[in-house]
Amino acid sequence: TLTDTAQFTDRHGAVHTLPAAEAEAQVRADDRAHVFHSWSAQGLIDPVPVAAGEGSTFWDYEGNAYLDFSSQLVNLNLGHQQPDLVAAIQQQAGRLATIQPSIANDVRGELARLIAEVAPDGMEKVFFTNGGADANEYAVRMARTVTGRRKVLSMYRSYHGSTATAISLTGDPRRWANDGVDNGTVRFFGPYMYRSAFHSSTLAEESQRALEHLEQTIQLEGPNTIAAIIIETVVGTNGVLIPPPGYLPGVRELCDRYGIVYIADEVMVGFGRLGEWFGVDAFDVTPDLITFAKGVNSGYVPLGGVVISDRIAAAFDTVPFAGGLTYSGHPLACAAGVATFEVFRRDGILERVRDLGSRIVEPTLRAWAETHPSVGEVRGQGLFWAVELVRSKETREPLVPFNAGGADAAPMGAFAAAAKKGGVWPFTHFNRTHVAPPLVITEDELVRGLAVIDEALTVADGYTV
Ligand code: PLP
Repeated sequence: TLTDTAQFTDRHGAVHTLPAAEAEAQVRADDRAHVFHSWSAQGLIDPVPVAAGEGSTFWDYEGNAYLDFSSQLVNLNLGHQQPDLVAAIQQQAGRLATIQPSIANDVRGELARLIAEVAPDGMEKVFFTNGGADANEYAVRMARTVTGRRKVLSMYRSYHGSTATAISLTGDPRRWANDGVDNGTVRFFGPYMYRSAFHSSTLAEESQRALEHLEQTIQLEGPNTIAAIIIETVVGTNGVLIPPPGYLPGVRELCDRYGIVYIADEVMVGFGRLGEWFGVDAFDVTPDLITFAKGVNSGYVPLGGVVISDRIAAAFDTVPFAGGLTYSGHPLACAAGVATFEVFRRDGILERVRDLGSRIVEPTLRAWAETHPSVGEVRGQGLFWAVELVRSKETREPLVPFNAGGADAAPMGAFAAAAKKGGVWPFTHFNRTHVAPPLVITEDELVRGLAVIDEALTVADGYTV
């Protein structure tokens, strides 16, 4: 029930008060009447009004707290209202709020330098975009320009964004309604041990067979027609699929052999999610282009970009790069990015991600795979994990059908409702729930949140056969 004033206490012990009933009613009314939402049938949704956030927690207007295990689309790596990021944006706004991209600017240059310093050797330049989709869009444009070829190979079970080329690269059902927008995409199967397309029984076999399949795809498509291969270093929304040893280095070799540009999409895993600056650092591989967004500044001001190998950058030394965006390298976004580097280094964020991931998340999730009949497989690294839910461990039949909606998705809906009731905001997709909290989550919060998910999984267990 609504109260006249809801109160919530943030992690510093400060108490905030909100005029709950009236404020919430107004937020809901404006949203229903005027906001057109992403990926939704507008009449079938009922978005939760959020009143405030702090660290890993956000509050609704009734004062209910949710521990965020989704990081707001795996974006909010430093959590809500991180004081250094807020201050950096405020300071920059007071100094120079915006400037066009063709002018040299201090924070834009500083952030590009900081990114180049942590990128693999031989990647010195950064092209800034407004987010992840356009980063991929521009990476493909660069690859097409330097190779003079058009096709791009991308994986089934991938997400690369929702602008024209990015949605065409995407290999999950989100692309279906937009198929053919950019008809230069050819899809292939990546490694996925739990549901292997190659009937492999070991990771080594899965890696080798997936590479053979990719090479055959390249040969049958015509190597001279393929500009790029784009791969999420760890597949994100399609299941936190960790590439088996040797797979990404094998992709690198194929790209070298056939003169193809290797684009690593690190929009979700870049900037700390795996306990590394860039995901490729964990897999011993250097791509030609790395796309990033989200974690670069926790989305406080929209920002994305492409880190460019020296070889590709050099191809544009005398040939103009035909592309640009008004807000490319926006000073407010870059100021938040520079502050992100400071916080990561000062607070040892990469180290704590590795520690919390291996010491707390991994053993807890592995135990769930033993204790819950609905948990088919758990997999992940750092603070990026998936729990794949099944109706039967034996048959591995997913807990809900592929791409289920409405009543078919009820078991996942019931699981998510139980998690929310326990105070955790989960990230669910098809038959999976992901564990991807802000990287600043405290150990207590993490343990408490995992206990809530553990309890909610008993609801999923009820749907097993
Ligand atoms: N690439 C990956 C791997 C993503 O996860 C996403 C978004 O979730 C995107 C690209 C698109 O990013 P944006 O929503 O910023 O356009």
